[in-house]
Amino acid sequence: MPRICRAVHLKDPLPVLEAEPVAGCDVCAALARQRADAHAIGDKSTAIDSNIEIRRHPHPKREGR
Ligand SMILES: [Zn+2]
Repeated sequence: MPRICRAVHLKDPLPVLEAEPVAGCDVCAALARQRADAHAIGDKSTAIDSNIEIRRHPHPKREGR
């Protein structure tokens, strides 16, 4: 029988949504890497900050080029 890891019931004040880094954006890629590193070491505040920065990073639409 497989062992099932039960989800940890943590009541976060806000659901932490993983922001989608924009493909081809170096800044988003760097932030995504920083976020992954933060997750790896359990640094939640840095992970959340990285998510916020990814979400806020402006990406002007490429038009008329
Ligand atoms: Zn970006």
